[in-house]
Amino acid sequence: MVLKELEIQGFKSFPDRIKIPIDRGITAVVGPNGSGKSNISDAIRWVLGETSSRQLRGAGKMEDVIFGGTQSRGAMGFASVNLTVDNSDRRIDVNADEVVIGRKYYRSGESEYSINGQNVRLKDIYELFLDTGLGRDGYSIIGQGRIAEIVGAKSAERREIFEEASGIARYRYRKNEAERRLASAEDNLERLHDILDELE
Ligand code: ATP
Repeated sequence: MVLKELEIQGFKSFPDRIKIPIDRGITAVVGPNGSGKSNISDAIRWVLGETSSRQLRGAGKMEDVIFGGTQSRGAMGFASVNLTVDNSDRRIDVNADEVVIGRKYYRSGESEYSINGQNVRLKDIYELFLDTGLGRDGYSIIGQGRIAEIVGAKSAERREIFEEASGIARYRYRKNEAERRLASAEDNLERLHDILDELE
């Protein structure tokens, strides 16, 4: 899957709206310590639906992803990231050559998600990228310390990693969803029986 462009505004150390074009081949981001290199990969992970602020370096709570201000500049009220992905191979189930995933988070705690400009739920983004290798739980983005974490993981956790990498995570997700719906249907059925018993 080919990333084409990343647009960031108000996210971590980037108050101004910037566009980072990503050319084919290898892209390297270089800069001094603390200049914001990891914040760029965090922005990609975040727009793809990262829900744990702990996974985003230095962010204790989700509000910490919003530019917090410096001596010369006030804090921002929101963080926004848009990621453009090449979809000419239709790897993502959207009928368009380019897919733009957007996420915006306000200091008030409100979130917005979009796919090609249409407002969606976080779940939709998660499902769209399941098993593409790029999703929130994909292993395309390996943060610092992640390798050590994988090596030291319990076998059940490591199994989840292989399931995602081999493309079966989608089926496990669907199975869990189906089981959840089945349990709710059984609850409803039980309630219906109770009502029928009362009526008889
Ligand atoms: P290293 O080379 O040490 O790994 P890096 O270039 O990857 O560093 P990052 O970790 O991406 O650097 O960026 C850290 C910088 O981002 C710090 O200066 C930190 O103050 C700044 N930063 C992080 N979150 C925010 C925020 N919400 N508001 C303003 N600045 C932030």
